[in-house]
Amino acid sequence: MSQETLSNLLKENRRFAPPQELAAAANVKADAYDEAAADRLGFWARQAERLSWAKPWEQVLDWSNPPFAKWFVGGELNAAYNCVDRHVEAGLGDRVAYHWEGEPGDTRTLTYADLQREVNKAANALLELGVRKGDRVAIYLPMIPELPISMLACARIGATHSVVFGGFSADALRTRIDDAQAKVVITADGGYRRGKPSALKATVDEAVKDTPSVEKVLVVRRTGEEVAWHERDLWWHEAVDRQSDRHEARPHDAEHPLFILYTSGTTGKPKGILHTTGGYLTQVAYTHWAVFDLKPESDVYWCSADIGWVTGHSYIVYGPLANAATSVLYEGTPDTPHRGRWWEIIAKYKVTIFYTAPTAIRTFMKWGEDIPAKYDLSSLRIIGSVGEPINPEAYVWYRHHIGADRCPVVDTWWQTETGAIMISPLPGVTEGKPGAAMHPLPGVVADVVDDTGTPVPNGGGGFLVLKEPWPAMLRTIWGDDERYVKTYWSRFEGMYFAGDGAKRDEDGDIWLLGRVDDVMLVSGHNISTTEVESALVSHPKVAEAAVTGATDPVTGQAIVAFVIPRGAAETEAEGEEFVKELRDHVAKTLGPIAKPRQILVVPELPKTRSGKIMRRLLRDVAEHRSLGDVTTLTDSSVMDLIAAKLPSAKPED
Ligand code: ATP
Ligand code: MG
Repeated sequence: MSQETLSNLLKENRRFAPPQELAAAANVKADAYDEAAADRLGFWARQAERLSWAKPWEQVLDWSNPPFAKWFVGGELNAAYNCVDRHVEAGLGDRVAYHWEGEPGDTRTLTYADLQREVNKAANALLELGVRKGDRVAIYLPMIPELPISMLACARIGATHSVVFGGFSADALRTRIDDAQAKVVITADGGYRRGKPSALKATVDEAVKDTPSVEKVLVVRRTGEEVAWHERDLWWHEAVDRQSDRHEARPHDAEHPLFILYTSGTTGKPKGILHTTGGYLTQVAYTHWAVFDLKPESDVYWCSADIGWVTGHSYIVYGPLANAATSVLYEGTPDTPHRGRWWEIIAKYKVTIFYTAPTAIRTFMKWGEDIPAKYDLSSLRIIGSVGEPINPEAYVWYRHHIGADRCPVVDTWWQTETGAIMISPLPGVTEGKPGAAMHPLPGVVADVVDDTGTPVPNGGGGFLVLKEPWPAMLRTIWGDDERYVKTYWSRFEGMYFAGDGAKRDEDGDIWLLGRVDDVMLVSGHNISTTEVESALVSHPKVAEAAVTGATDPVTGQAIVAFVIPRGAAETEAEGEEFVKELRDHVAKTLGPIAKPRQILVVPELPKTRSGKIMRRLLRDVAEHRSLGDVTTLTDSSVMDLIAAKLPSAKPED
């Protein structure tokens, strides 16, 4: 971004107050903000009391060597004990931890007592394989119970896990295994996706040809498909099932490395984000309880993310389990065997809290509201969103068609690096605005600043920063302290730079405006991709939109938009009229400065495997350049389809 701060173009007047009943019984009330502001470290110390510590900490925060933080210094705890054993000891052994639903319709129910036995057996097996405290274990599994079981088994013995999303290629897996020097890889023959078995073991075989650190590969039998077998391979059912279901969990230091997670790589070479134990577990437990107003004895919670992403680590595994919640865990895709599968699952398990991503919501909008309308979603009471800015129109659709205008929507901003939710409405407190992440949570200090690091006034836009360390913050980039400092702490003195643009509205509430790298500079104005995309999506004929700035001889950059029409509008979408209608609509909504130079109707958008739009590839196409790194793209053939729509522009590779 240049000197000019980010423009604030979008005006939004809709407001949604919390339902009275929910507000009256909410876990967190408005006073939490003041309480935390008055004594931030005292506030986090109280949240840490949610956990069982084997040894109390001596100091809440050591920030004497920034940006290298130590939280709950001297304290000791075991993450697996906190997520499983202590609940069994408290008499909750029969409570369901996971209702697991396989894509083909097979199910498994794991109570906390079951989970304890399974985790203990897996921990004993890892020990037998020679895994010791401090070693790294790579986990490359589908969404089956063995995935959280493996993570907890590692945490139990003090091994650091590195979960790699099951959709990644052999190459991506190899670099991640190598970077972390993993000793063991846990995988499966495959998993079910789109109604078919999808192989995983072959990818691991390919990856570990070149990873000398790997001694053993532990393989879960899921699909029963044939796999190649090597000397280093062991079946899970042979190595784990025969183990004792008892194992004594020893405490680890609060700063013991819990996991490494590589960011999805929307913006370049993956970074191994390192999270440690005490602070991470404190903040994920607190935020899961506060943001979703979790009542563990009655709620059924479902987060539709993959555990391979941070959302799954924090809000399928560690947060919900630390809180003794009952969760749904689903293996497959939303459209198998039919497009109502997710709503069917919500009705079946009477899910009360649902957490998903804007990309999924926009897909459901495209498929049509008659699909969710066929299912009983009346059990829902809170619905959440994460991963990208949620366009106001998608928020309102979600609230209306899924939440029956009854459920608060919590739009949660956070990152792999932050470990836990940082900016979000509180469902019993906040009067929600569609598209706004609203306020930093109690105990979090966030701001929007200009180029010089000065806070912008209300109504202004700029860079999102975090001004105080927080318990679940990343501790470094694995093996690269220098890159950690350079990437996050060098842009603004003493502040964490998130890489996202944001604005404060007239009330001081925070709106996320997309990645700073994606901001468009048009005739001296910095325009956010999010606002233009939201304006396009607010047109009734548009389902999804992505915009990018392409070099323009007159305006510096010009806005090029790629849109997917909604089902019914598909036929007329080819015409000039449609494009003109959309350009005028954007100009009317945001002002003439935001009017796209060009609008291309496309069948698909390039997305990462976590479902986020990759705008830099669209910029490459719009500027007639060969494509940058496409390894994190779900489906690279999409780029050919898009390039074919652009007059005289084809990617060169
Ligand atoms: P990489 O860092 O490798 O490019 P990534 O940023 O997509 O990948 P994540 O850590 O999963 O990986 O995503 C965090 C980013 O997602 C945030 O920095 C922000 O850009 C976006 N994001 C997440 N939640 C929200 C939200 N509620 N509103 C707006 N943006 C969000
Ligand atoms: Mg990121």
